[in-house]
Amino acid sequence: MKAPLQVVWFKRDLRIADHRPLALAAEHGPVLPLYIAEPGLWAEEDASARQWDFAAECLAELQAALGALGQPLCVVRGDAVAVLRKIHERHGIAALWSHEETGNGWTYARDRAVAAWARGAGVPWREVPQNGVIRRLKSRHGWARSWDRRMAEELTAPPAALPPLGSDWPMRIPQARDLGLAPDPCPHRQTAGRAAALATLASFLERRGKDYRWQMSSPVTAFDASSRLSPHLTWGTLSMREVAQASAARLKGLRGDESAAARSWRASMISFSGRQHWHCHFMQKLEDEPRIEFENLHPAYNGLRPDVPDAERLAAWVAGRTGYPFLDACMRALAAHGWLNFRMRAMLVSFASYQLWLPWRATGLHLARQFVDYEPGIHWSQVQMQSGTTGINTMRVYNPVKQGHDQDPDGVFVRHWVPEVADVPSPLIHEPWRWDGAAGLAYPPPIVDHVKAAAAARDALHAVRKGSGHRVAASRIAEKHGSRKAGMPMTGQKSRRRPATSQLALDL
Ligand SMILES: Cc1cc2nc3c(=O)[nH]c(=O)nc-3n(C[C@H](O)[C@H](O)[C@H](O)COP(=O)(O)OP(=O)(O)OC[C@H]3O[C@@H](n4cnc5c(N)ncnc54)[C@H](O)[C@@H]3O)c2cc1C
Repeated sequence: MKAPLQVVWFKRDLRIADHRPLALAAEHGPVLPLYIAEPGLWAEEDASARQWDFAAECLAELQAALGALGQPLCVVRGDAVAVLRKIHERHGIAALWSHEETGNGWTYARDRAVAAWARGAGVPWREVPQNGVIRRLKSRHGWARSWDRRMAEELTAPPAALPPLGSDWPMRIPQARDLGLAPDPCPHRQTAGRAAALATLASFLERRGKDYRWQMSSPVTAFDASSRLSPHLTWGTLSMREVAQASAARLKGLRGDESAAARSWRASMISFSGRQHWHCHFMQKLEDEPRIEFENLHPAYNGLRPDVPDAERLAAWVAGRTGYPFLDACMRALAAHGWLNFRMRAMLVSFASYQLWLPWRATGLHLARQFVDYEPGIHWSQVQMQSGTTGINTMRVYNPVKQGHDQDPDGVFVRHWVPEVADVPSPLIHEPWRWDGAAGLAYPPPIVDHVKAAAAARDALHAVRKGSGHRVAASRIAEKHGSRKAGMPMTGQKSRRRPATSQLALDL
C-alpha cells in the first residue's frame, strides 16, 4: 500500500525557492504539489483574465521546476473542498501544507471551509507564514521588529528531489476562458514566472534602481525606475524575504562609498526597503479586519457618498475620457500595462472619490481588475486611504492639472496616451479646454470643474470629521491599525520622522 500524501497547496506562492511548506512536506513523505484553479474565485468581481494569464504563466514554469525535482505540479479545476476530499478518498492525505494567505473575502470564506473539512476528515492543515503578516495579531506594538526578524531568517532551499507519484495526475493549466473570464487584452503586461522575477530584481538592484527615490513619482520615469516587483510579490514568484535580503545586501555593499552615484543608490535602497515593510503593513490591516474590503473603516463615513455610482461619471473615468488629459493618460496606460506607479494610482482614486464623488468600492473593483499585481490587503487599505474613509489620515485631494504639470511638464506621457490632444501646445497640454483650437479636438471637455468639485468634497469630509464621536472611533482605529514605527506611511508615500507612538491618530 502506498504512503498517504503530503499535499502542498500552492496559492499565491508560485515558486519552489524559499517555500517552507514544500520543504517541510518533503521531510514527511511523498509530496503531491497541487494548484486548484477555482472557478468561484475567478468569478469574483475583482478578478480578471490579465491576472489569470500572469498566474497561468507562473504555473507553467512552476510545473516544470517541480517536474525537474521528480513530481510536476498537479492542476485541478474545481472547488477546493471538493478537490481535496476526492484526493483524500482516493489516495489518503497525511497532511495539507500551504502558506498563510491574506486574500479577499472569498478566499477567507474558502479557507474556513477547507479548515472545517480538514478538521472533520482528520487531516492536519499546516499553514506557514510567508511574509511579515501576523495571524491573530493582538497588538501592533513590536510589529516592525517582528517583520525585521522574519525577513532576516535563512532562505529555505527546495527539496533535493520529489519521489514521482505516477502519471495519472491532471496537469493541464486552464485558459482564462475555461474559468469564465472575459477577454482582457493587456498588450504591455509584464512577463510572468520565476525567471522574469529574478531578472527584474537583478536589473533593479544593478541598474534601474539608482534614481528610484526621485523617479518613482512621475509616470514618465517610473515604469523603468520602479522595481516592478509587485506582480511577482503578489503571485509569489519571489518571496518577500528574498527581496528584503537582496536589497539589504545591495545597501551593505555601498558602505564606505561616498561617490554621488553611491549616495543616490543608498537613498533609493533605503526608500525601497521602507516600501517592503509597507507591503505587509497594509496587508496586516485586511488580515486584522477583513470587512475593510467592503465597508468604510470609519463608520462616520457611511452614507456620505451614494452607494450606486453615477453611471456616466464612472464610465468616463473607466474609459479615460474625463477631459483631464493627465488623469486619462494614467487610466489608459494602466489598461495597457496592468501596472501604474503609486502616485498615479492614488490620483486616480482621489479624483474618483473626491471630484467625481463616486463610491470607492465600485472604482476600487475596476482598478483591482486592471492591476496584474492586485493584492487585496494593500489595495483596499489604499483605496480607503485615498478616499478619506479611514478617519485617521490627512485628507489628500490630488489636482489632476497640477499633477500633470509636475509629473509630465512637457506632455510626453499625455501625448502618447491621449493622442487626441497631441497638437495642443505644451503650456496648455494639461488644460486643453483653454486652447483656442479646443473646439476642434476629438476629446471631451472636463467632466466636472475639478477645483469646485474638490472644494465641495473637502467641505463634506470636514463636516463628518467635526461630528460627535468621530475622534473616539478614530482613536480606536489608530490603536488597532496604526504603525508604531517612525518612517512608516502616514498618507500616500510621504514618510515623516516622528516619535514612535505620539501621532498614532495620523497613521494608517
Ligand atoms: C489605490 C491604490 C491601490 C494599490 N493597489 C495595490 C495592489 O493591489 N497591489 C500592490 O502590490 N500594490 C498596490 N498599491 C501600492 C503601490 O502603488 C504598488 O505597490 C507599486 O506601485 C508597485 O510597483 P513596484 O513594485 O514597482 O513598487 P516599488 O516602489 O518598487 O516598491 C516595492 C514593493 O513595495 C511595496 N509597496 C510599494 N509601495 C507601496 C505602498 N504604497 N503600499 C504598500 N506596499 C507598497 C510593493 O510590494 C512593491 O512591489 C496600491 C496603491 C494605491 C494608491
